[in-house]
Amino acid sequence: MARPIDVDDVLQPKPTPAVLLRRGFLKHCPRCGGGHVYRSWFRMKERCPTCGYLFEREPGFFVGAYLINFAIVEGFLFLMLMFFIAWKDQHPDAGMTLAIVLGLTIGLAGPVVFYPYSRTIWSALDLIMTPLEMGEIVAAADAVGDDDDDAVDPDRPPPTEGTAPDAEPANGDGTGDPPPPVT
Ligand SMILES: [Zn+2]
Repeated sequence: MARPIDVDDVLQPKPTPAVLLRRGFLKHCPRCGGGHVYRSWFRMKERCPTCGYLFEREPGFFVGAYLINFAIVEGFLFLMLMFFIAWKDQHPDAGMTLAIVLGLTIGLAGPVVFYPYSRTIWSALDLIMTPLEMGEIVAAADAVGDDDDDAVDPDRPPPTEGTAPDAEPANGDGTGDPPPPVT
């Protein structure tokens, strides 16, 4: 059931970049802070079950998440390397086995462990750079409550009631322009 969209959906104060990022690092929806945005460790829900925010805002959106994932793993590898160099300085006779095993473990397991976090962090960064447009806000409000299925059905009938009559229509389908006056 669609929740009626009202002016608060549009005029609510935008979260600060710090709040957006904190939510992303917690694997929560950056827009509202709601959790349970994953069906499994690797399968993200199409929309936030709390606020209806569509995570994949455009095709190829999550390519940026791979960059985040890569950066996180590289960061941990860098920390490990720095630690190992300092440790090796104190223990010059120590072998390389521990460093190789640790590095391989971080390099192989890191991307798996941080995969879901990288997506929500990327979503937060994207929201900081590109705030939601009116059409996305309306679509998100319409989608709240549709958490029983993964894919958004494009043939889903539009809500017949509850929508504010003066709500601005989403112009994404190209039909938002008013008809020309009859002469
Ligand atoms: Zn949300």
